[in-house]
Amino acid sequence: MPVPSDSPTAAPPAPGLSTLAIHGDRAAADRAHGEAGAPVVSPLVQSVNFLQPHGTGEGLLYTRYGNTPNAETVQRRLALLEGAESALLLSSGMGATACAMLALLRPGDHLVSSAWIYGGTHKLLTQEFATLGIETTFVEPTQSRDWRRAVRPSTRAVFIESPVNPTTRVLDLRPLASLTHELGLALVIDSTFASPVNFRPLAHGADVVIHSATKYLNGHHDILGGVVLGTASYVEEVRQKMMVWGQAPDPFACWLLERGLKTLDVRVRRQNENALALARWCEEHPAVARVHYPGLASHPDHALAAETLDGFGGMMAIELAGGGEAADRFVRALRVITHATSLGGVDSLVCEPRYTSHAHMTSEARAAIGIPDGFLRISVGIENAEDLIADVEQALGA
Ligand SMILES: *Cc1c(COP(=O)(O)O)cnc(C)c1O
Repeated sequence: MPVPSDSPTAAPPAPGLSTLAIHGDRAAADRAHGEAGAPVVSPLVQSVNFLQPHGTGEGLLYTRYGNTPNAETVQRRLALLEGAESALLLSSGMGATACAMLALLRPGDHLVSSAWIYGGTHKLLTQEFATLGIETTFVEPTQSRDWRRAVRPSTRAVFIESPVNPTTRVLDLRPLASLTHELGLALVIDSTFASPVNFRPLAHGADVVIHSATKYLNGHHDILGGVVLGTASYVEEVRQKMMVWGQAPDPFACWLLERGLKTLDVRVRRQNENALALARWCEEHPAVARVHYPGLASHPDHALAAETLDGFGGMMAIELAGGGEAADRFVRALRVITHATSLGGVDSLVCEPRYTSHAHMTSEARAAIGIPDGFLRISVGIENAEDLIADVEQALGA
């Protein structure tokens, strides 16, 4: 017989993302009626080492091992948010990607990667991993047949990033997940741009999720961090790499990240709303030749994004009709939106990929991959949408 929903024996409903981000797996009663005088906020334990019982290696805590109180609190919380068995926090997104890959690949192994990935990751694969004897084949992700063609007997994993920087393209995980599961490969995704509010890749067939916690997870432009999520046994292997490569996070960064995570859900929802409003406004302006935002019907992946994402995200890009000179004038005239690299925080930021992530390419080569001069990437923050629109309007008129 089904248990009536008001029965005291019925399981409580699973907590929502915001509740998990604030309370983690601490039982509500524990928090609400715990020891009098206990702090509501987790204490910062800024210590590198900890007293240890005599005659045993049990309970050995050391900051480089990633098992300190502040790291463990955040790791549990991140695992809950992504629906992962386990999570490991590292000192940066690059540290997370490097250790995640080192735990999967040995000399002689082969990796298949999307060609549309973060510049630092591209360098890691082509410069560092190549010298370790780990070869990467890059695939243009929308050429679906190329994925299977790129696989070799020595292939161990497939790596992708979605949504993609800076074009905001969205990839379909489902065909990739069936390919990797069929062939016994690990599907690894850098999900930094989505955050768990907009997309939880493990539920779509990914095996490993990586984030630069520097971006949406922390959201306040004040710490570096990275996270790797997956099965407990895999995450333990990543931790072994992290310890010897020295990529553990500092307790204060963990503490700030725990604070940042509490507002993740409200921040990202507001960023979703702001970006959609700004993208729609820009699409109507004659000085803007093109707007890249998955929430617009004009976006090549709009239908896929609407089907698979819970929100279209805070990242967008515009192409100014006046090209590079117009972009320079526009950036100089902005008053609210800050000209700075990075993304995902409360402040709206703008950058021109031709001076940053794509500076190593010629103007023609950039145009060929969809980043012509005049292309501006905007990380939309949580300011009032009207103020962002007014700022863009006055800067377009400058
Ligand atoms: C920023 C970023 C990284 C690198 O993260 P850091 O925290 O800067 O080391 C990796 N992937 C993506 C998609 C990023 O945006």
